Amino acid sequence: MSNPVFTVIAPIFNELENLPLLYQRVSNAMEKTGESWELILVDDGSKDGSTELMRQMAAEDDRVRPVIFARNFGHQIAVTAGMDYSRGDAVIIIDADLQDPPEVMLELIEKWREGYQVVYAVRKERAGESAFKLKTAALFYRLINKLTDVDIPLDTGDFRLLDRKVVNVMNSMPEKHRFLRGMGAWVGFKQIGVEYKRDARHAGVTKYPLKKMLKLAANAVTSFSYVPLQVATWIGFIAAALSILAIPIVALLRLTRIAQLTGQATTLIIVLFFGGVQLISLGIIGEYIGRIYDEVKGRPLYIVAEAPAADSAGVEQHQNLPHSK
Ligand code: UDP
Ligand code: MG
Repeated sequence: MSNPVFTVIAPIFNELENLPLLYQRVSNAMEKTGESWELILVDDGSKDGSTELMRQMAAEDDRVRPVIFARNFGHQIAVTAGMDYSRGDAVIIIDADLQDPPEVMLELIEKWREGYQVVYAVRKERAGESAFKLKTAALFYRLINKLTDVDIPLDTGDFRLLDRKVVNVMNSMPEKHRFLRGMGAWVGFKQIGVEYKRDARHAGVTKYPLKKMLKLAANAVTSFSYVPLQVATWIGFIAAALSILAIPIVALLRLTRIAQLTGQATTLIIVLFFGGVQLISLGIIGEYIGRIYDEVKGRPLYIVAEAPAADSAGVEQHQNLPHSK
């Protein structure tokens, strides 16, 4: 079988109720392109029977190619695996819960045909999400833009189309803590956004609890910014400058007896404050060191329990250990 023109990647973590409709809507949309396509379903350690259903779907339609993980590795890693196994000239990443309407893929493809190599979908409206999620998401995108050097487009998720060239570049980036939106912006190429309305989840609940969201945010910041590391330097300079200014002032007050400085409480507060600042700074350094340690260990990004059948060109790039390159 020759390589398909399009690859659609959907990460699956307990999405049993969404799989049938996902398949139906993706295949309806892709049929309209008139080109060949494949749907890579990456099973990220599902426990609800999604795995069995995926196998069955693959048996019925060989355009469906399941990549089954040995355990849950997380959404960004699942998408990465999908990119490793993808064979299409253009690769589209979509959520499995149908929040990203598969029909929008046609608009992404249109832009790709015009020559754009990264076509990201911009959430103009979001339905069925809590005020908390909307607020934190909006804050997150703006914070990332402030802190990082790469211009990550506001209000875009992972729903996007990537040209084969871009996919190959991203696949060759070995970093373990992956923030794909950032990487997608960092690589450059001809990029454009397409606005769409993000729907509510078709079925089930979000697989992104607050803990996972915070982890994603921490990965985004540490992967693309040194600003947190520099905060300690700034506070240090400010504190040093203030204390140098304070020395003559305190001495003068003391000598002229204008004011009697009684200061146990003040001293205590200052000691506690800088103790806190120092521990926070250490913690921030720790975040970076932990990530360096993860990189140095050189463990594979993910472990595949079951690779898709008829694997002609699927390269398991991130499963290779560094020394085997
Ligand atoms: N997902 C995954 N692994 C995880 C968490 C999520 O593969 O550990 C998948 C999930 O099945 C869905 C997509 O990532 O296809 C987006 O997750 P979700 O819809 O729960 O996130 P939200 O839209 O609420 O941010
Ligand atoms: Mg969702």
